[in-house]
Amino acid sequence: MGKRVIITGVPGVGKTTVVEGAMKALATEGIIYQPINFGSFMFEVAAKEGIVQDRDQMRKLDRTVQKKLQKMAAQAIAAIEGNIIIDTHCSVKTPQGFLPGLPEWVLSALLPDMLILVETDEDQILQRRLRDPTRIRDMEGSRGIADHQQFNRSAASAIGVMTGCTVKIVKNQDFLLEQAIQEMAAALR
Ligand code: AMP
Ligand code: MG
Repeated sequence: MGKRVIITGVPGVGKTTVVEGAMKALATEGIIYQPINFGSFMFEVAAKEGIVQDRDQMRKLDRTVQKKLQKMAAQAIAAIEGNIIIDTHCSVKTPQGFLPGLPEWVLSALLPDMLILVETDEDQILQRRLRDPTRIRDMEGSRGIADHQQFNRSAASAIGVMTGCTVKIVKNQDFLLEQAIQEMAAALR
């Protein structure tokens, strides 16, 4: 069986950018991972059913609907073979509180070998969100971002205990993207 790695971090921390860099670096050595975006699997179903027009509307849906979409995504992703890297969230900030991105039934479908948590200072994340016109990010202060990151660390530790996967923290600091890419690539080798 291939390696299954889950990559998480608060919105705007740069998960997708770091993953793309690490994939490129590893491909030069013949190490191939298929990048999978968990939210895209959810969005495909949600858009087809006409309940959202934009992926950033999903976290505002009723939590029972979010969980239904989450379960369908997990089942579809579980069927993918080979080395995969799943871009998702330890927790999703919803109006009804933090929704676990990786509850027990998602984890038992995905069976991850490793969980990577991408982090940086909350002020940097705030700036990155303000600079990204492609997404409808929730307006949140740096204190809220810090709380979310703290919550995600707790969630990550619970996921490690539940599944036995290792938890790797990668810092994606301003001007140090290359360092984050190399750190992630090293963990994925
Ligand atoms: P992203 O592109 O990673 O920000 O994901 C887009 C949206 O997909 C998020 O705002 C969530 O609504 C949803 N999403 C992604 N991963 C999960 C997950 N594991 N559980 C629940 N919702 C998720
Ligand atoms: Mg992303």
